[in-house]
Amino acid sequence: MAQDWIDAARSGMGLKIARKLDADILETLVRPQFTGYFEHKFCREEPAREKLITLAREFAVVPISGFQVGALAIGKSGNAYLGANMEFTGVPLHAGLHAEQSAVINAWMHGEPAVEALYVSEIPCGHCRQFLLELHAAEELPIRVRGVQKNLAELMPEPFGRRRAKGQGLLDSSPSEVVKIHPDDGNQTQRAINAASRSYAPYSKSPEGFIIETINGQHFAGRIAESFAFNPSVPAVTTALNQMNLSAQRKVSISSCTQARLATALTQSTAFSEALMRGICNVPVKSVLMESAH
Ligand SMILES: [Zn+2]
Repeated sequence: MAQDWIDAARSGMGLKIARKLDADILETLVRPQFTGYFEHKFCREEPAREKLITLAREFAVVPISGFQVGALAIGKSGNAYLGANMEFTGVPLHAGLHAEQSAVINAWMHGEPAVEALYVSEIPCGHCRQFLLELHAAEELPIRVRGVQKNLAELMPEPFGRRRAKGQGLLDSSPSEVVKIHPDDGNQTQRAINAASRSYAPYSKSPEGFIIETINGQHFAGRIAESFAFNPSVPAVTTALNQMNLSAQRKVSISSCTQARLATALTQSTAFSEALMRGICNVPVKSVLMESAH
């Protein structure tokens, strides 16, 4: 790659760390199709992973605290998934997404069946430790913070909840079958339903999907990821915003939003999604109703 192109890419990224990145990492990062992860060839060694955590911090959206946290989830494939905290104005503080959640959700949205290690720039808070218990074999998950490694069992010696059996954790559970009630009126509807069907909703049994479309025609899907303790659960809208934020399209304007939910859902976050999106863009959230196939 020509040096002048690298220099131009670095200056145009809006990421302070870009000047310090190796050319091969930068080349991946500046591709329009970048979706927030690096292939295993870039992150086999510890120094490369440490550098990617510093990069992940740059993706943080922190209008309230100004406190950037970066995370990196190493998937079973060996690929490294970025994670960064997100805060939202105009809604309660607990609407925020933590970097550890962001990285694990990023790995999940890319189809990773397991996370084999988690790197974080700060020690995980109690909320994140609780969220991570949704992974199968969570207690053995190595968590590395500034060169010190512990597993989740050490950080969470008296866990709340029960272990997720193999095939029933956040990353490895099977899709649920949902069908829509109203006639299909476009691809966006089907995308939202597809996203919902891959939800992790073992506690409410109320899957939901969310699709963000950008003005340049890109789509970002989100789905709900629940926690046994309820509060650390991540709604579909937040998952979709996370995937957009970690991608090369994070600064592109949003043109439409679609949410799919069960008509009979005990819990649903349409009002929350609308409040959240109102603070981000002036685009209404279209709601699609589904019914369970069972
Ligand atoms: Zn946290």
